[in-house]
Amino acid sequence: MANNDRITELCPNIFLIRGEETSSHSYLIKGDYKNLLIDSGVDKNFPGLQKSLLALGLKVRDIDIVVNTHEHFDHIGANRYFQDYALIAAHRFAATKITVEDRYVTMYKSGDLNEPSLKVHIWLENRSRFDLGNYSLEVIHTPGHTSGSICIYESAFKILFTGDTLFAGGKLSYIGESGSVGDYINSISLLATRKINEFYPGHGEISKTPDEDMQKALTNAEALLKDEEGVEVTHFREVRETS
Ligand SMILES: [Zn+2]
Repeated sequence: MANNDRITELCPNIFLIRGEETSSHSYLIKGDYKNLLIDSGVDKNFPGLQKSLLALGLKVRDIDIVVNTHEHFDHIGANRYFQDYALIAAHRFAATKITVEDRYVTMYKSGDLNEPSLKVHIWLENRSRFDLGNYSLEVIHTPGHTSGSICIYESAFKILFTGDTLFAGGKLSYIGESGSVGDYINSISLLATRKINEFYPGHGEISKTPDEDMQKALTNAEALLKDEEGVEVTHFREVRETS
């Protein structure tokens, strides 16, 4: 079944569901107590996401919690299909942009005039925790790519869900309208103090070399700062289309 090509089980009951084209990936965690989805992807990716969930034995209404890693449209666009059943959670600096429909920061582009407004039911803080029984997920506020960016850490398996904060190979996303390079360097420096075996980003491949990739991300961010003083760096803007 072609749809299963989009699904990879990363740890017991933790599934990567790849996003199509510009959409972010989604990660499903089937919990003992609650089912949690990290990022909903773009609106038009929803039919594929729905099929993948069905292949994993879940209907949309079986998702209890949707956590957004940050406020960009390619991570929150399909929230509308979940928000009547699930609790939507995002860092409060992301929630402030999502709930007032700040399209400058979220880059949200849906053209449907009758679209329902997006809700955020739970405004997260640094060190908030989701206890799913089999997994305990810690929220780490990691501003930089945007002000409301979070990573989600599972300390037993030592895995980290990174949204657009970290990509495999240490490649940077661009620094968004609400973001800051200084915040980014500080966030990655703090993440680098954690023991992490693998990280799971919002786009591209997963990382099995997190320490190396975090160091590369720091080097790239420092180069980005120097770029503002005239030193050439290359690859920051080209990822804008996909992140
Ligand atoms: Zn983003």
